[in-house]
Amino acid sequence: VEGALVLAGLGLGATVGLAITAETSSQLREPGGVAMFLGNLTGLAGTYLALLMVLLVSRIPAVERVLGQDGLLRWHRRLSPWPISLIIAHAVLLTYAYAEVAKTGVLRQLGAFVSSYAGMLAAIIGFAIFVAVAATSVYSVRRRMRRERWWAMHLGMYLAFSLAFVHEIALGPSFVGHPLTTAVWSAAWAATAGVVITYRFGLPIIRSLRHALAVEEVRPEADGVVSIILRGRKLDSLRVSGGQFFEWRFLSRGLWWQAHPYSMSARPKPPYLRLTVKAVGDHSAALARLNKGTRVVVEGPYGAFTAHARQRAKAAFFVGGIGITSARSLLEDLPRSSEPVVVWRVSAQTDAALEDEVRTLVTRLKGQLHVVAGSRREVPMHRLVRLVPDLKHRDVFVSGSEAFVASVLSQLAVSRVPSEAVHHEVYAL
Ligand SMILES: Cc1cc2nc3c(=O)[nH]c(=O)nc-3n(C[C@H](O)[C@H](O)[C@H](O)COP(=O)(O)OP(=O)(O)OC[C@H]3O[C@@H](n4cnc5c(N)ncnc54)[C@H](O)[C@@H]3O)c2cc1C
Repeated sequence: VEGALVLAGLGLGATVGLAITAETSSQLREPGGVAMFLGNLTGLAGTYLALLMVLLVSRIPAVERVLGQDGLLRWHRRLSPWPISLIIAHAVLLTYAYAEVAKTGVLRQLGAFVSSYAGMLAAIIGFAIFVAVAATSVYSVRRRMRRERWWAMHLGMYLAFSLAFVHEIALGPSFVGHPLTTAVWSAAWAATAGVVITYRFGLPIIRSLRHALAVEEVRPEADGVVSIILRGRKLDSLRVSGGQFFEWRFLSRGLWWQAHPYSMSARPKPPYLRLTVKAVGDHSAALARLNKGTRVVVEGPYGAFTAHARQRAKAAFFVGGIGITSARSLLEDLPRSSEPVVVWRVSAQTDAALEDEVRTLVTRLKGQLHVVAGSRREVPMHRLVRLVPDLKHRDVFVSGSEAFVASVLSQLAVSRVPSEAVHHEVYAL
């Protein structure tokens, strides 16, 4: 991670350097000269950061294994205000600067951009798409949109960046007459596009064709919870750890267009793979009605919530409701010496899907299972944490809803459990 951060920082430094070295003092003194310089600087820095954001969500396996999907998305969200504001500043500053140079109004200058500047029509369309998609990502707007619609719109960013490329090379002072910087910039773009095409689209397609997964059985497990057992080819060659998840796309009417994350609820047992799903909305509820033979496309495996994250010999688990799926498959990867204590909070005893399997695994590992039923008020978090007296000396794995994980993490902080020993999987991205 440190290496990647240093590399990213060097790249940003080099990009800013490009804008500075392309400028002369006489250009700065001309009308609109300062705005022109700042416009070029913000454009280059904003585009560089936007490329980094694309790389963060491009599912590069080595990066994903370290930071996990949720960690990468957190960085992506944290960084996003920077490229958005820099690119908007670039558009405003350069329109003003060009208008100053041409001694004309801003609207006339926009017309001139479209009619007389190479690649500018495409860039303006790309900018409009960029601003529209960025607006849908503001938390308050995003919360009100259907997740699938938001996601489909978000893919528009790829189109926006592609439309902007030609005007950068054709008009950017760092590139016009500078074949070397043009080549390096183009290579950075091409490499980013290659990574996206390979990992986001190519690999899932190849993997899905190779394993040819199809629904074998849908098995009820508890109130509103079903296991879906899939049958596939060559599953022993699938490199996967207990605790990981896939993005699943079930190719049936009404479901094929959306992929949702669900953890494996058991390690693959070739030719079978299993997920266990609680009905909370339209996708998860529809899975109970899947027909045998339905083909399945998967993206993954993803997630750093695995036995590789362990720092200690012994382990403890705090699990909320259906969060048991990832914990259940992770338990399969633990050695006997881990003696796991599993604290599992469910709303009612009937919600404890897969309880027998979990109990068998925990017993085999010489651990303990506490299934605690009751509402959040009836079972306060400090009571759950007290069930593991030697907590500070164990790895602590936490999985479940956002609210459950957040409340366990704050209780662990109060109990002074070192953060490097705490690993979590939140069931919402
Ligand atoms: C890493 C991970 C592992 C998960 N493992 C399991 C599991 O093993 N079993 C299980 O039952 N559930 C699991 N979930 C939760 C599951 O993804 C959601 O319950 C499901 O996607 C809800 O979709 P819906 O259309 O039924 O409900 P909706 O009403 O659309 O959504 C309910 C909530 O689920 C979340 N959600 C919806 N769509 C997505 C999506 N495409 N990506 C991420 N989050 C979404 C949102 O927080 C939303 O508020 C997991 C989630 C994540 C992130």
